Amino acid sequence: MNVILLAPPAAGKGTQAELLKNEYNLNHISTGNLLRDIISKGNDLGKEIKNIIDKGNLVSDEIVIEVLKDYLDNTKTTDLLLDGFPRNISQAKKLDDILKDKNSKIDYVFLFNIDREILENRITGRRICNSCGKVYNINIEKLRPKNDSICDICGNNLIKRQDDNIETYNVRYNEYLKETKPLISYYKDLNILYEIDCNNDVIDIFKQIKNIMDK
Ligand code: AMP
Repeated sequence: MNVILLAPPAAGKGTQAELLKNEYNLNHISTGNLLRDIISKGNDLGKEIKNIIDKGNLVSDEIVIEVLKDYLDNTKTTDLLLDGFPRNISQAKKLDDILKDKNSKIDYVFLFNIDREILENRITGRRICNSCGKVYNINIEKLRPKNDSICDICGNNLIKRQDDNIETYNVRYNEYLKETKPLISYYKDLNILYEIDCNNDVIDIFKQIKNIMDK
């Protein structure tokens, strides 16, 4: 079973991915995290990627697909939970090809519908553990850490992503409208698109997804 989470930035893909990964034993792949791992190496490619991400633009298909393929070469390629990929039609087609080569296909695409005002509130409150990657939100009661700057799980520091500010967010959101939204009709035509109302809390969203997957 392969699943895609399709959502505007900061809609809570990462949080749902954590829950779904554990519930269905899926291989969670966040291209954002893979790209941030490269940035942390500090090499030329990392610097180039950082420049693009910090501005809120999308990294080129060439780089992202290479990074994804590289990752898939070193991991199990079944039961994928794709978070942040594909971000445009050409990536979606590439993904279809990669899966076809493995006699596989996408089974579910969950589209996160959420109001813009809620997203802005989330973006300013998101905090991430710089060690274990656990995602918190200091503006959302159920996602607040006990201490705003310390991870509840491993005790390391929580950081704010550099691209989590309103100015960069507007660029990211516009990229979503222009590049990613066309994927809605792409997957609708394949009859694998499921719309999720994400204006409520984390558990409600998870239940909606689970109801569909358990049918
Ligand atoms: P995310 O962690 O999914 O919010 O992604 C953070 C940033 O990484 C995005 O704003 C893009 O700059 C870049 N990125 C992540 N996934 C992709 C992708 N599939 N295609 C292009 N850029 C991506």
